[in-house]
Amino acid sequence: MHDLIIIGGGPAGLTSAVYAARKKMDTLLFTTELGGQLMWTREIENYMGYQFISGPDLMNKFEEQVKRFAVATKYEEVTGVTVHDNGTFIVKTQEGEYQSKMVILASGKRSRLLGVPGEKEFAGLGVSYCATCDGPLFTGKIVAVVGGGNSAVQAAIELSGVSPTVYLVARRDYRADPILIDKMQATGNIIELKGYVAEGIYGKDAVEKLTIREISSGKIQDLAVKGVFVEVGLQPNSEFLSGLVAVNDQKELIIDCRTKTNIPGLFAAGDVTNGPDKQIVIAAGDGAKAALMAYEYLLHQK
Ligand code: NAP
Repeated sequence: MHDLIIIGGGPAGLTSAVYAARKKMDTLLFTTELGGQLMWTREIENYMGYQFISGPDLMNKFEEQVKRFAVATKYEEVTGVTVHDNGTFIVKTQEGEYQSKMVILASGKRSRLLGVPGEKEFAGLGVSYCATCDGPLFTGKIVAVVGGGNSAVQAAIELSGVSPTVYLVARRDYRADPILIDKMQATGNIIELKGYVAEGIYGKDAVEKLTIREISSGKIQDLAVKGVFVEVGLQPNSEFLSGLVAVNDQKELIIDCRTKTNIPGLFAAGDVTNGPDKQIVIAAGDGAKAALMAYEYLLHQK
């Protein structure tokens, strides 16, 4: 029986792990890959202490810090969590079952699909969900980014460094931070197509065009592109909880300001929660808070 199981190896889960270890809680962390969404981010300039750092570099620093402490890590996908009558937890993975007195859910989010014809067929053949990972494959090629949030604008900026022309297709006003919009508009090779929706992705063996529709006129237009980067938001990795924890209409786990869910001993942190802002520094802060709340909970169980 572990004191604490942490599910997730992104900024929230790793920060929880360090805080839990400092409280000498017997902690087990599950992740499929360390870093989470950090691994998809090339430029971070709003994580305090670093004026500029890449996602993978920040992740390496997190990992180094976790390794200084006794935190057992298992690279297994969690498939379910159940609660015993006595209030302890069983965490199931594809490899086995593990028990703990408390759980911190820090499983983050994954990319939302666009849901247009051609998206699934051309995944990996020109359709990508990660500009940082796949951008270099499109060096010298014209590409499009679909979406209007921080992720889309950031992806367009990254791609503008390797691609001669980047189309940014957004269905209405951007949700991105003004500083990113300024940066994007200063690149000179990003063509903004605001008020358009993607209708389909077409090609023979790989992507050759993105068909878009102007919302106001209904006019259809083809963009000759070799790559389509889908950046239309994220969805929480909360399905494996199958009804155990209260969620909002976006399936984010509902927590209070102390990271508590509706189940005693079950805490949640970072992007998987209903916290309003999805930022690395906020996820890390949530993770710290969740571990401290778990420690307080443990003391009251003794
Ligand atoms: P987001 O903020 O939810 O924005 C999603 C964008 O995709 C919106 O423009 C939305 O348009 C559009 N969209 C959704 N479904 C669509 C569809 N079917 N077709 C076309 N467009 C569609 O998502 P995000 O940009 O991935 O960001 C997620 C969170 O991470 C946010 O909280 C963001 O601030 C944060 N983030 C921060 C940074 C940073 O600080 N540098 C970087 C990346 C992400 P509508 O507005 O019309 O719904």
